[in-house]
Amino acid sequence: MVFSIPITLRVATLVGALLATSLLMADTPAPYRDPQLTPDARVADLLPRMTIAEKIGQLSQGCISEKSHAEGPQRNPVRDGNMGSFILAIAPALSVGIRNQMQHIAVDESRLGIPLMFGYDAIHGFRTTFPIPLGLGATWDADLVARAQAVSARETRAAGIDWTFAPMCDLARDARWGRVAETFGEDPLLNSRMVAASVRGLQGDDAGSPGHVAATLKHYIGYSAAIGGRDYNMTEITPFMLRNLHLPSFRAGVQAGALTVMSSFNANDGIPVVCDPHLLTDVLRGDLGFTGFVVSDWEGVSESVAWGYNATPAEAARRSLAAGNDMEMVSSTYRDTLKAEINAGRVTLATLDEAVRRVLRVKFQLGLFEHPFTPALEPEKTFLQPDAVALAREAVARSAVLLQNPGVLPLAKDVQHLALIGPLGDDAVEMLGTWPGMGRGQDVVTLAAGLRAKLAPGTTLEVVHGCDLIERAPRTRTLMDGSIVADTSAEKTKSADIATAVTAAQKADVVILALGEPRGWSGEFASRADLTLTGRQNELLASVAATGKPVVLVTFSGRPLVIPALPAGAAWLHAWHPGVQAGNGLADVLFGDIAPSGRLPITFPRSVGQVPIYYNGYTTGRPDKRDYRDLTHKPLHPFGYGLTYTTFAYGPARVIPSAGADTPPVVTATITNTGPRAADEIVQLYIHDLACSEGARPEQELRGWQRIHLAPGEKREVTFFLDDQALGFFDRAGHWKTEPGDYYVWIAPHADAGTPARFTR
Ligand code: BGC
Repeated sequence: MVFSIPITLRVATLVGALLATSLLMADTPAPYRDPQLTPDARVADLLPRMTIAEKIGQLSQGCISEKSHAEGPQRNPVRDGNMGSFILAIAPALSVGIRNQMQHIAVDESRLGIPLMFGYDAIHGFRTTFPIPLGLGATWDADLVARAQAVSARETRAAGIDWTFAPMCDLARDARWGRVAETFGEDPLLNSRMVAASVRGLQGDDAGSPGHVAATLKHYIGYSAAIGGRDYNMTEITPFMLRNLHLPSFRAGVQAGALTVMSSFNANDGIPVVCDPHLLTDVLRGDLGFTGFVVSDWEGVSESVAWGYNATPAEAARRSLAAGNDMEMVSSTYRDTLKAEINAGRVTLATLDEAVRRVLRVKFQLGLFEHPFTPALEPEKTFLQPDAVALAREAVARSAVLLQNPGVLPLAKDVQHLALIGPLGDDAVEMLGTWPGMGRGQDVVTLAAGLRAKLAPGTTLEVVHGCDLIERAPRTRTLMDGSIVADTSAEKTKSADIATAVTAAQKADVVILALGEPRGWSGEFASRADLTLTGRQNELLASVAATGKPVVLVTFSGRPLVIPALPAGAAWLHAWHPGVQAGNGLADVLFGDIAPSGRLPITFPRSVGQVPIYYNGYTTGRPDKRDYRDLTHKPLHPFGYGLTYTTFAYGPARVIPSAGADTPPVVTATITNTGPRAADEIVQLYIHDLACSEGARPEQELRGWQRIHLAPGEKREVTFFLDDQALGFFDRAGHWKTEPGDYYVWIAPHADAGTPARFTR
């Protein structure tokens, strides 16, 4: 009996047992180190070994730059277990070395050896920069997007990064918002498919396997609905709209297995999302079934104080953690305040543990405990490999959208004299777009270089800058009394170039005008109040067009542009910001080696006054009274629009009723290539639910598309199922629902075409 054993013996026995355990522990690795155990079992073993400070450390993310690394202040927090992750904002020449140095501190010098997880924004490629996501959206080709993201993952992982902050799931409904460039467009279905494809490409079957990275679904949620299109602004998204517009792409990303989600900067209905338990927990985890971890956006937790929602950083930390925001990016409210909050009983240990559990589980899933270090980088065997470059070129050609073509395109390769005019004709860096990753100007094939490579011997290409993208010279000056007057002394920027451009145009058989917006005018904190060409480009366009020469306008931008000066006789190819293979991919299209197949993933307005504008608006109670006094409500080019070098005729949509319980009804139409050459067509299915008990549905909703390739004269019957997936909507409780009743269904080349067939379900 225990009580009969003398106390000294009991102590001796205890000491012996402890010794034996520690000897055993020295030999046997702790269970959390055992890769045979499941991530959950490993977390269950590791978590109780951690101090509160170490737990908070796992929820804290810093950012390492070359400078901060050289200065070294981040090493002690890692050694002490107070930092669990870093953004690795370091060029590839140094990134692997710095990652491994920091990782050695975490793994070898911290008490529990928990590895760090390194993140970075590889958004449309790492060194092989692909077209911006809006351009990738224009391909309507999810498989291509998956392959591009797989290349991005391979390059990113080799540079010492485990985790990328992509894909963006936000909807692009307001072209003034600079970050439409980073979206796949305005439609929930197109976005969903592109997001799911991105996750597949980035994570593969196993995000921890070589060449893959963890994906991030961002920005959760509603960030793109910033009022006025001004970045970081508040949003007012109602629950029904949230369910049907903003959530589907996140749902698709969760279903594709994304390991992380980033909470967004916006306050919706007054509550910063980072602190909203309904959105971050009830909806994201409860309804969508997300099981990974949520990271805030950059300083998003601390910004909830600036929003005027939380009074103090401690309150921000407490409410964010409780809401379900697991990791804090860059700001340090968790590190600074959570321990005291826990000690004061305002944050429970259970809440803390749950967040840590989610972060650790992802670290185990990524294999970081087994493979914490990155092998030395061999750039020449890793970056810009032939398959990556070929894919980038294909992506450029597939993303370009032909918006107007009165017969100027395709160009003949033996055109005698070609003039390439405009600030973007021979600019490398501008091609890279808003988040170029580690893409470099010297790897870019400019439009001039791409054209040159295709031209037949004996033809000439004259390249003229024309004007700058942005007019730098001051055009006004302020007098002593404060009044502002025109500055006649200021020379107009390169005005002589417009004259040179006109002379070059006069000598040319065809002029290509390469115009657009600077890449820095799209992306984060780059909203615009105007959507026209910047600087003196409109004047350049008008002057060149006045020569009467055939003009091909090639535009580069991160958003739809409004170009009132475009003459009807000119061709217009919209190229987004196309990345490293810009010139080659565009030359393929311009010379007709590839027939354009890009389709608009975002509506092109006639005027900025129509914005926000999108194809899936409402009929309203007065469908014939939707115009402005001074302008139609119709866009210049609708969602889904894009021409090619042939024409397609669409036969009427026919509904074929269900043949039995297991076969849904279908809608079908015959598409015929009525033009001179073979090309791809993106055949689109739209529906309109005529009466919905939960709330009116949009005038049209994209519910499917198919890419077909037809030779001249060839016909194809294209069929879509009219199943629950095609006809339903999310009800107010978040469930997919299909109601009996009447629908219009139609098959069309874009959102402003097609003859609806009525269908009763
Ligand atoms: C952006 C995110 C990005 C993060 C990290 C933020 O400012 O909103 O999209 O992933 O920075 O760079």
